[in-house]
Amino acid sequence: MRSQDHAALQAAENAAIPYLIVFLYEPSIIALPDTSLRHLQFQYHSVLQLNKIFKPYQNTVHIFQEEVLLVFNFLINSFIVENIFSYQETGVQKTYDRDIAVKQFLTQHHITWKEFQRDGIMRGIENRTGWDKQWFITMSEPVIKNTYTEREKIDIVNPFPLEENFEKSLKNYPKAYQPAGEVFAHKYFNSFLQERGFNYSKFISKPLASRTSCSRLSPYISWGNLSIKQVFQVTNEVLKNTNYKQPFQNFMSRLKWHCHFMQKFEMECRYETTCINRGYELLEHAENKNFISAWKSGHTGVPIIDACMRCVAATGWLNFRMRACVVSFLTHHLFQDWRHGAYHLAQLFLDYEPGIHYPQFQMQAGTTGINTIRVYNPVKQSKDHDPTGLFIKQWLPEIANLPVNFLHEPWTMTDMEASLFNLQLGKDYPLPVIDIEEAIKPHRAAIWAMRNTTLVQQENARILGMHTRRKKIKEDNMNDLFGEMKTDLQNNQ
Ligand SMILES: Cc1cc2nc3c(=O)[nH]c(=O)nc-3n(C[C@H](O)[C@H](O)[C@H](O)COP(=O)(O)OP(=O)(O)OC[C@H]3O[C@@H](n4cnc5c(N)ncnc54)[C@H](O)[C@@H]3O)c2cc1C
Repeated sequence: MRSQDHAALQAAENAAIPYLIVFLYEPSIIALPDTSLRHLQFQYHSVLQLNKIFKPYQNTVHIFQEEVLLVFNFLINSFIVENIFSYQETGVQKTYDRDIAVKQFLTQHHITWKEFQRDGIMRGIENRTGWDKQWFITMSEPVIKNTYTEREKIDIVNPFPLEENFEKSLKNYPKAYQPAGEVFAHKYFNSFLQERGFNYSKFISKPLASRTSCSRLSPYISWGNLSIKQVFQVTNEVLKNTNYKQPFQNFMSRLKWHCHFMQKFEMECRYETTCINRGYELLEHAENKNFISAWKSGHTGVPIIDACMRCVAATGWLNFRMRACVVSFLTHHLFQDWRHGAYHLAQLFLDYEPGIHYPQFQMQAGTTGINTIRVYNPVKQSKDHDPTGLFIKQWLPEIANLPVNFLHEPWTMTDMEASLFNLQLGKDYPLPVIDIEEAIKPHRAAIWAMRNTTLVQQENARILGMHTRRKKIKEDNMNDLFGEMKTDLQNNQ
């Protein structure tokens, strides 16, 4: 959803025949459990921005609200269609199946479908041999400078326009979300490089300060307003002449993590629905609907968790550590199956990217088998990363009057102390749904015990063979510049 570094649009411009740019809202995709209105709104406003860019060339993005095969059927009955140009999509099983149906349809109608590779994600590979080297090569290829020519206007009577109410809801984009589209993507990127990013590493784990010091590029990258290559190359130029090498190098390494995780998902999209280490399917959880709904709505009685859950619902963004923390709390402390939370957060993240979301979710839940199981103590995280309690106060107005020592663990107050702050624990703000210290002990033991089972270990070998690098990168010239990135990648596999 961008006008620059766009291989598909370049191919369409270079073809000697007229072309139509189409964007589809497919009812079957909208109905999926990981889709939410905020994603659709972000897409819609990205299209509106593209239409402003394309207007001088008499071009426009045509929006259809219908299943892809019906739309394509309409198009091939209205025009002689020779080619379809698009990017490859690293999506969930349902969109993968949809693509297979599209391929069959186009083949039957003798239409060529050219799909361009996205962000160095390789299709059809069976292991990671050579992947890193190829990724760096792809990132070093020239960014496409798209040019557009004035076109003869193609009139179509769209039989599948947006339904009035649906379009109304798309337009109604909350101000609390990051503004959508390519123009804002570049604004955010520039302000990050020019100032915000100087404290990138220092504040990366802080729930409040990271909102400014992190790049906040994730929704723009996820929905394609920016390519990874664009971000990589501009940052690389900045790195040559900056006093802030360390933070920008740390940032660069995360661009590679992005693609590293997406590559996992491209090769095994069942990360969405099943434990990637099949051995963990045998770990039994007792579903507790009260726990799950308290977690979702931000009423667990643990302030940092509740603040995070309310914040992400309202704004669509949390920093990495707080995402990891809320997943750890759900799956380790509350001991609920990770699938009870994965779609909920997918819907809330404005930057939802299945290729990162599910592998990260499972990594934090401890179901990969190959990663260290990291149990975050929410009280420690709260004290370490929100020491003044400002983040908690912003999202939990009911306890905003508490002095900071009680803010992180209000249950340690006596009734008398609480009454001094006009607070009735259990009524105005919940008591914790579990005893944090005690509840975790048996859960931690159960999760670790699984690691010694034969199936988990067999699966570990399979996962390591498929998703991790087998050989060190040899090219020395890359070592200097990207040495830091490789160390980071190894730690994050
Ligand atoms: C449970 C869980 C779910 C997540 N789901 C998503 C998701 O759906 N979409 C998403 O973009 N990120 C996801 N992340 C990764 C990470 O939290 C976000 O990418 C990051 O917080 C986005 O903020 P930013 O753009 O300011 O990141 P920055 O720190 O500025 O990083 C720049 C870019 O690097 C990439 N990146 C950063 N951290 C990671 C990481 N740990 N793994 C992979 N790529 C990374 C992102 O594209 C990000 O925009 C998830 C993390 C966890 C723990």
